[in-house]
Amino acid sequence: MLQERSILEHISGLGPDAMALAAENLAPADVLHRVFGFPEFRGVQEEVVRRVLAGERTLAVMPTGAGKSLCYQLPAVMMDGTCIVISPLIALMHDQMRAADAVGIRAATLTSVDENRAETVERFRAGTLDLLYVAPERASGHEFRGLLREAKISLFAIDEAHCVSEWGHDFRPDYRLLRPLMDDFADVPRLALTATADAHTRDDIAGQLGISADGMIVSGFDRPNIRYAMSGGATSGVAGLVKTLNGAGIIYAQTRDRTEKIAAQIAAAGRTARYYHAGMEPKARAKAQSDFVASEDMVMVATVAFGMGIDKPDVRFVVHAGLPKSIEAYYQESG
Ligand code: ADP
Ligand code: MG
Repeated sequence: MLQERSILEHISGLGPDAMALAAENLAPADVLHRVFGFPEFRGVQEEVVRRVLAGERTLAVMPTGAGKSLCYQLPAVMMDGTCIVISPLIALMHDQMRAADAVGIRAATLTSVDENRAETVERFRAGTLDLLYVAPERASGHEFRGLLREAKISLFAIDEAHCVSEWGHDFRPDYRLLRPLMDDFADVPRLALTATADAHTRDDIAGQLGISADGMIVSGFDRPNIRYAMSGGATSGVAGLVKTLNGAGIIYAQTRDRTEKIAAQIAAAGRTARYYHAGMEPKARAKAQSDFVASEDMVMVATVAFGMGIDKPDVRFVVHAGLPKSIEAYYQESG
């Protein structure tokens, strides 16, 4: 399975003989050290990587910050061909690509904002990409499916895999089209990754993506430190509550208008706040999200459009402003 050319390109500072020797015996742990610069695997990473390299379909449930990306990036470096990464947000893809680039992994994104799409397609065709990031809408399209036949695919990695489940609040119908796509390439291993999944959602994700129950590896999932539900809730009440809470947090509101009003109130009360909803320009939305991820004490006021794939381990509180449609809906949102 080792692809010597790919691995050798990552190992610098060795003479040709030493390099050839190294490539012959490279174990995942060696690649972890040499390419990623980490001393050891964290938690279940090693187990997940081992399964992927063995071609076994896997659903990995790991908390935010646990290092899910490595679980497909490392095999992508070791395996022959390109790993197709499905990711729901352009901003996330670009962050990931920059991080991969920084350690010398050959990664590209294929999105509407990328002006180098033709070049990326050529790199894919030439077999010189380790990772290709795409959104589910593009991945499930006719054109992309055709493109996939033109080069070798090493792995399908489905990031933020809870988007495939109606039980999660980030449901994205296009994630449902990934199964038929992957079934067309039945020999290519698949790895689904998520941080948010209770047992019910987990089973649903695995089922929807054609992963059997024994392919599930669960090492815990996201739980913010504090969670409040405010029923009804005047805008000023939410702002008052937030004043008493430290650290970064998310407030879910039910309408776009409410997110903007609450954010303004919180800002007026002296805390940094942003809002996020589906009616915003994509650029403004991506900016609000990256500001939030970069900050230690910002309050994000959002509709349920927000939440997928926030790479933020230090969310201290989540407030649900307004009465959830039903208790069941509330439990699903808290999953
Ligand atoms: P997740 O997707 O699970 O939220 P990421 O893949 O974004 O997490 O990784 C979070 C951080 O952990 C990144 O900065 C990554 O470089 C780091 N990381 C991943 N694996 C390891 C490891 N084995 N040792 C040290 N740091 C790691
Ligand atoms: Mg991630």
